[in-house]
Order: sequence, then C-alpha cells, then structure tokens
Amino acid sequence: MYIRSFTISVAIAQVASLVSADASNFWQSFTSQINPKNITIPSIPQTTSTEPVTECTYYNPDPTLITINNTEWPSIWEVATTNNVNTSVEFTAVYNSIDWTKAPNIPVRTFTAAGGLDFTGYSATSDPDCWWSASVCTKPKLADINEDIANCPEPETWGLTYDDGPNCSQNAFYDYLEEQKLKATMFYIGSNVLDWPYGAMRGVLDGHHVAGHTWSHQYTTTLTNQQVLAELYYTHKAIKLATGLTPRYWRPPYGDIDDRVRWIASQLGLTAIMWNLDTDDWEAGFTTTVETVQKNYDAFELMGTNGTFATSGNIVLTHEINNTTMSLAITNLPKIMSSYKQVLDVATCYNISQPYFEDFEWTHTLNSSVTPASGSSSATQGTVTSSSAKINQSSTSGAYQIGPNSLLVIAILSAALI
Ligand SMILES: [Zn+2]
Repeated sequence: MYIRSFTISVAIAQVASLVSADASNFWQSFTSQINPKNITIPSIPQTTSTEPVTECTYYNPDPTLITINNTEWPSIWEVATTNNVNTSVEFTAVYNSIDWTKAPNIPVRTFTAAGGLDFTGYSATSDPDCWWSASVCTKPKLADINEDIANCPEPETWGLTYDDGPNCSQNAFYDYLEEQKLKATMFYIGSNVLDWPYGAMRGVLDGHHVAGHTWSHQYTTTLTNQQVLAELYYTHKAIKLATGLTPRYWRPPYGDIDDRVRWIASQLGLTAIMWNLDTDDWEAGFTTTVETVQKNYDAFELMGTNGTFATSGNIVLTHEINNTTMSLAITNLPKIMSSYKQVLDVATCYNISQPYFEDFEWTHTLNSSVTPASGSSSATQGTVTSSSAKINQSSTSGAYQIGPNSLLVIAILSAALI
C-alpha cells in the first residue's frame, strides 16, 4: 500500500471561465463579524449535545458574532422578495445593476392542478431552454451563461453532497464526517442559515465546501426574475453573515433550473452544481421506505467497483434534512469509502481553487491510499487536509438552533419533494 497523490486531470479555471457581469461584485457590500480562518463557535449546551431536543432548542446568536436586523431580510421560509425587501434601496441597487434587456426570453413556469411542473407545450427533445426538469440538461443553449457542474471529473470518485442544511440536529453527523476525515459540499438554505447560523459556521470550521441552496427552496423556474435574484442574493448574504464567506456555487432545489435562471445566477457570478446520481433519501419514511433507499445506495456503491466510473466520477444527491437521511449516510459511508478510490467534496474533485468570492483559497488535496495493481482499491479515505479552511480544530463541536417557523417548514419539506 502506498500513498498516491492524484493530480487533477481536468484543471478547469472556473473563475476565469465565469461570465463577467456588472452585478458580479454584489458580494462586496456584504458584512460579517466572522473570520472564516479563525472560527470559534460559542459554547452553549447545543455545542456539545447530540440529543435532538437539546440541539433544536432555539436561541439568539451571540450579537458580537451574528447580528440579524430583521428589516434587512426576507421573511424566513417565504419567497425572498417578502418583508418588502424587494423595494429596499439595497435590493433595488442589485436589481438595477443587471441589464435585464439581455435576459433570455423564457417564460416563468407554472404548476399543474396536481401540483407538479407544467410541461405542456415544452419539447423535452429539442429542449430550447436547457430545462433540467424536462431533460436533465446542464449545458446552456444560450451564450454567456455558466454551464452547470454535474459530475466529478476524477475517476472512481464519489462526489459527496448534502442538501438543505444547516440542520439543528446534525452534530453527530458532522462529528462522524470529521472522524472519517470526509469533506462534503453542503448546500445551505438561506432561511436555515439565519435560524441556525452556528450550523453554517461549523460547516466552514470543519472544512466543508459550503454552497447556496436558495432562500426558501422553491422551484426556481416558477419564480419571476426578481424573485430568482432575491432567492440567490439573500441566501449568499446569509452565508456570508454566518461564515465570513460568500459562495460562488449553488444548487437549485429539485434541480429545477433553465437558461433564464442560469442567466440570472451568472450575472452574480454563480454556477450551479447538479448531480448525476440521486439516492431519493429524503423520501425514506415518507413516500417510500428506508429499505428502498438502501437499495439505491447499494446500486450506487456497486458502481464504485464495476467500472461505471472508470473515467470520471459521480456527484450524489443526499440530504442532511432529518435523522433518517443522516443515519442512512452514516450507515453507508463505510461501504462507499471501500467501494470508491476517493470520496470528495465537489470543490476538491473539480479542482475549484476559489469556491468563495473572498480571498480564501481552497487547499484540500487529493490523497488516497490505494492498493497498486490490485484491481480493486482498498481505499481508506485519503488524508484530505485543509490548512486554511480547517482552523481551530480543538473546537470542533457545533451548535445548532431552530426557529419556530423552521420546525414546521422542515416537516412540510420532508413531506414534499426535495
Ligand atoms: Zn433541497
């Protein structure tokens, strides 16, 4: 057994390829009292407890770290133009920094009476709008739009992603990831970040790749241009407030994105990260069984040894939304690590050196223990190190809180599509 350092085969200069836009400096007006290179999460009962009731006890964040002025923010878990923020001087300036005459002429989507997206009149075959929900398209049909990331270019690699956090009961899960030296891409919902900012702080403290997942988890193609902009803007503002970092990457809820939404995100310099394997883990206990989701995991784990990802890896959709999905993750990660040569966050796998707008270089390295010429890798998870993101390692416990609205919304979300 020897240590092999992987050289990223696809060294894509993501930053250089981004569409330049006047609005792309939107993040420079954000403020934060958090130094992402020196995070200390306040010591409160939730900092050390892994008991769900204790973890989900709401409390106000330390005002010397997190100051939330409610008038500056949309209503929690409502479309991000609420609370009159859409007419604020702040948002109006961002909106007006975009030349909307260049926006794609693509209609705002609607729902059917049954509640699903209405695809009436849309050809998934010709797919003029690169509408993922209709066609799983990730390469824009129009110019000057950032192409989605949908797989991990490193061979035999599992791209580890968790959606819908920060979650008030995730201490044990994050502890497990830390013990295993695993880094994931965490797609945080803006409303959750304001409710549980210490959860977002821990994501950065632990060296995970933090990205946005919109403010209120809507089907973004059903939102107006203004609503899409607000969902992105306020989510990334919230992540900045709680972590000191503004993500360059985001994931549309339900994967619902088309070239109109992509164009708006591109104006902010944002790129979507999708997936190419879906565990449907959020359905466990609701519309399907844990056993069925486990079969999905089994199939995906088998792909790590049967050559499916011999030339490039995957990005897998999983969630930290509840204890069922987090338990499924902890149950399956040992097998995933033994089946794949590497288990990596997307920034590391895709060789993204600047996943945030701030000067905060991504320093995770690709190291993996493999058995040479054995045909099947033993794959203890490599030493994924981060000298800049992983600071203050002695303070590794997180603290999580839940707002009164969020418990209800989580319940609704859990019962709906994710
Ligand atoms: Zn989601």
